[in-house]
Amino acid sequence: MSRPVESYNTFLNTPLSEADPDVARIIEHEKYRQFAELELIASENFTSQAVMEANGSALTNKYSEGLPGARYYGGNEYIDQLETLCQKRALEVFKLDPKEWGVNVQPYSGSTANFAAFTALIKPFDRLMGLDLPSGGHLTHGYQTDKKKISSSSIYFQSMPYRVGTESGLVDYDRLEENAELYRPQLLICGASAYPRDWDYARMRKIADKHNAYLLCDMAHFAGLVAAGEHESPFNYCDIVTTTTHKTLRGPRAGMIFFRKREGEDKKDSLETRVNQAVFPSCQGGPHNNTIAAIAVAMKQAASPEFVQYAKQVRANTQALAKKLIGYGYRLSSGGSDNHLVLWDLKPQGLTGSKIEKVCELVNITLNKNSVCGDKSAVTPGGVRIGTSALTSRGFKEVDFEKVADLLHSTVEISLELQKEAGSKLLKDFLAVAQKSDKVAELQKKVEAFATSFPMPGFDVSALTKPQKH
Ligand code: PLP
Repeated sequence: MSRPVESYNTFLNTPLSEADPDVARIIEHEKYRQFAELELIASENFTSQAVMEANGSALTNKYSEGLPGARYYGGNEYIDQLETLCQKRALEVFKLDPKEWGVNVQPYSGSTANFAAFTALIKPFDRLMGLDLPSGGHLTHGYQTDKKKISSSSIYFQSMPYRVGTESGLVDYDRLEENAELYRPQLLICGASAYPRDWDYARMRKIADKHNAYLLCDMAHFAGLVAAGEHESPFNYCDIVTTTTHKTLRGPRAGMIFFRKREGEDKKDSLETRVNQAVFPSCQGGPHNNTIAAIAVAMKQAASPEFVQYAKQVRANTQALAKKLIGYGYRLSSGGSDNHLVLWDLKPQGLTGSKIEKVCELVNITLNKNSVCGDKSAVTPGGVRIGTSALTSRGFKEVDFEKVADLLHSTVEISLELQKEAGSKLLKDFLAVAQKSDKVAELQKKVEAFATSFPMPGFDVSALTKPQKH
């Protein structure tokens, strides 16, 4: 017979809706928002029910510093099984031979994965080169401004960026090669947050080799496309590949670091040892085992034929969206896309990315302002970034993305009228007019009706109620 629950413990068995109605309500409202909006943020996705179950499991209770078979805590028999399974699946998804590649699945996020990878590869104040943030690079690739070192990757290491051409929107590899001659980096980074084109890995490898530098690819954005064979694999060229697991890869929020193994190498100085030690104990403490379980589930799903179909559809949808926007006469950075995102330049229309982001938010379209080629700063960007993976997970096809393009076009037309009406260039004057606009309200209803006609992965929409806005 089991013992009765002590009175001071009863709330430990109370469901969230009773234990904390405030948090429960906010979660329900957020779920409705995800359902009722067109989610076009290129770094987001809708993960599966199974991933969310694993992520919300009792594994959150366990400490397991160290690696499978070598932990600093007891009770890790099942956690060891889990982490080993997760590693195996992660290598399989990317078709990697475990004799040539290994993986650390403990990074809490993409940013910490990158910092741990840098810690493994180079020494403090060594030199790295990554794509500049206004050119589409990520903060963690060495971002700094004239006035300030912004990212820890520029505070603890020295950084010199490379850029995209102001007209072409393509990485200027010639300029990168010239600057690398002068800067002599120890680490070269490819991969980005807002770059719609494929990477010339062979060229990057050549430049890295000239300076005896490591080549790291941060494939966070397009990892799902690589897994499905819909994007050239960086593993053919790089020493280290980092990724997040929650973007096109559609898993939980986390990171991974893949490292190359070399035959006959001294284990003490191998990338394997250096990466594993950099993650723990240098940069992190105990792994989040609930997240590792969720990554394992996501890796199983990413190895399925359905995932390949999804990845193909992501690319087809991006092409359909790009074609329709270009058909309306709009300009896209680099003229199109090879992956899951487009960069939409609104400077020719005389609009800013901030204004369009705000009006889109009012009409239930979620995207983000982004610098586009020709912009000098990321603070007042001239365009927006649009990604197709989240809506593809909801079942959107090419015709649906044509409709998305129509809705985006309507948003721009309304915004141009609002800008005239506001009679000022200031965002706050523009917003004041937009919030009162009947046309905005009408478009919002249309978008909501369209969005809610699609299913939502991972949760039951029939149980949701629409939040009352104040
Ligand atoms: N790397 C790239 C290329 C990214 O785009 C991002 C985030 O958007 C990250 C790393 C950071 O990931 P996280 O937000 O999980 O720290």
